[in-house]
Amino acid sequence: MSKPKFARILYKISGEALMGSQSFGIDPEMVSRVVEDIISAKEQGTSIALVVGGGNIFRGVALASGGADRVTGDHMGMMAIIMNALALRMEFDKRGVPATILSGLAVPQVCDPFTQRGMIEARDRGDVVIFAGGTGNPYFTSDTAAALRAAEFGADAIFKGTQVDGIYSADPKKDPNAERFQTLSHDDVLEKRLTIMDAAAVALSRDNDIDLVVFSIHKPGELARVVMGEGIFTYVSSA
Ligand code: UDP
Repeated sequence: MSKPKFARILYKISGEALMGSQSFGIDPEMVSRVVEDIISAKEQGTSIALVVGGGNIFRGVALASGGADRVTGDHMGMMAIIMNALALRMEFDKRGVPATILSGLAVPQVCDPFTQRGMIEARDRGDVVIFAGGTGNPYFTSDTAAALRAAEFGADAIFKGTQVDGIYSADPKKDPNAERFQTLSHDDVLEKRLTIMDAAAVALSRDNDIDLVVFSIHKPGELARVVMGEGIFTYVSSA
């Protein structure tokens, strides 16, 4: 078996990716596909942790834009993330693949709270580690949580599955002249204001020497190809 190009990754799954063709919530078929892809990548010897978002259920900023309290909204958003994490873990359980949820927001009756020690134990046992509850703090996003947890997990790269197969100069669905970048630096992403992740997450990744790999979530099996350095993706690195 050839060695994966990326030995340890943090896979950021946006809440919207779990929505499938629905306009809200969790599509069980999509959860099943996402989990299948993760298991295929893991079978190639890559150690994988997940950070899932919650935008398919709730975003704090949406509540705040209507004049309500942002902090309460963000707490609701972080609970939405935990719901998505539970859906993912259920799917791993169904397939007999050990997965452990560690949450930045403590809901001890539901899942273990995040601790560095608990994370190392689960990782070294070979579990898929699902980081839930974001950073546990309001005013952050699950992208920032991905950058933080990637550093704690010792990931080589954050993998971000998106609607298109990499980072483009403009939205390729709207602009026929949009160009796909093959490689970029973190500073390029920040300077060109490429909205692939929020700026805080890109800067945190840069400062901790964590690469970003952006690929399409719509191609079944692409995650496994990309961890081997194959497939189509944009590669962001500081080197
Ligand atoms: N959130 C938060 N702190 C965090 C991560 C997330 O308060 O560290 C809340 C915030 O309200 C956010 C919601 O959880 O809108 C869902 O996360 P996000 O929008 O990042 O999810 P995604 O866009 O990846 O689906």
